[in-house]
Amino acid sequence: MYSHPTNTQLTTWLSRLVQIPSVTPDQAGPRAGEPGEAAMSAAVARWFAAFGGEVHHHEILPGRSSVYAIWRGAKGDAGRWLGVDVHTDTVGVEQMTDPPFDGRMAHGRVYGRGAVDTKASLAVVLALLEAMHSAGIQPQDNLLIAATVDEETGATGAPGFADWLGARNLVLDELVVAEPTGCTPVHGHKGLVRVEFTAHGLTAHSAQPHLGRNAITAGARVALAMEAEHDRMQTLPARALGIPQLTVAMMHGGHGRNVVPDRCTVAIDRRVVDGEDPLEVTARLIALAQAASPLPITTEIWRQITAFYQPADSGLVTRMAAWSGQTPTVAPYGTNAWAYGDVTRQRIVLGPGSIDQAHGAVEWVEIAELEKLAGIFAHWWGLPVR
Ligand SMILES: [Zn+2]
Repeated sequence: MYSHPTNTQLTTWLSRLVQIPSVTPDQAGPRAGEPGEAAMSAAVARWFAAFGGEVHHHEILPGRSSVYAIWRGAKGDAGRWLGVDVHTDTVGVEQMTDPPFDGRMAHGRVYGRGAVDTKASLAVVLALLEAMHSAGIQPQDNLLIAATVDEETGATGAPGFADWLGARNLVLDELVVAEPTGCTPVHGHKGLVRVEFTAHGLTAHSAQPHLGRNAITAGARVALAMEAEHDRMQTLPARALGIPQLTVAMMHGGHGRNVVPDRCTVAIDRRVVDGEDPLEVTARLIALAQAASPLPITTEIWRQITAFYQPADSGLVTRMAAWSGQTPTVAPYGTNAWAYGDVTRQRIVLGPGSIDQAHGAVEWVEIAELEKLAGIFAHWWGLPVR
């Protein structure tokens, strides 16, 4: 007999998870405790196994393993594949004014780093798996829960999971990427291209500038060409995710007040919308930079991330909207969802709590939000919901 997780069970799971520090190593300071996701991955793997999951460890970076677990559904091969990607890392805690890892319950909330971003979703998943296991019931469809590392800084966990799925020819019918959306189905967000252009000139004494070639004035032309590209894009019709944006984010160059500069680097952040190919966007930016600069240009590519867009009338989006009572929307921030275009049929971003509390000096999630997600996932997994 299935009994749905109580609020106490949900909050107990979340407190437990918050009490295991899993600060991303890049942001680990003296208060971070045991940094990294290793302790979280080990605990999650134990729980997954205890609840009947078929557990797979996937080392993404040295000492940083994602954990995937599969529960085969009652429908066997006829069943769909439903997946959840929930990242196990958190941002740093040095800036927190609140105890980062006590996981206390107060004012109808659970507090601590990761409470909302995004251990809340993992807590709900674990509580549901525990309830199913205790009742001896199998999900109707196949479930695959991925507790992925390295979302907050390197963003290698999601492409790692996508590769793992691809290597098994496994395409998930539906994937929920867990992030705090107030349980609103988020069905799209922009992607990203980050490139740096370096103009290469020739240094000389500034009393004889004609003997040099000034890389800063060349870099300035590149920067202005990029601004013109931004302005041009603002006149284009908006796509579902809006209009692409471009920011000239950084510029470095010069050696001294009396030296013709031989190098200048211009860093570009270009937000990508649906229907755009990041490789084509990059190629266009390179062509514009080369055309604008009187000096040779080299390019360093930092990021090429495609936009994520799931049409609002997709089955997964409309069902999640009905179960959550929230109108689907698109997000201004990025998530792991970008990585799964080739290994999912439908995907959304959804999870309890507000992004407003994520990464903050005080982090918390409302217990009512955990309860809400438990209800949504129970519907999704075909569990007997009250
Ligand atoms: Zn997150």
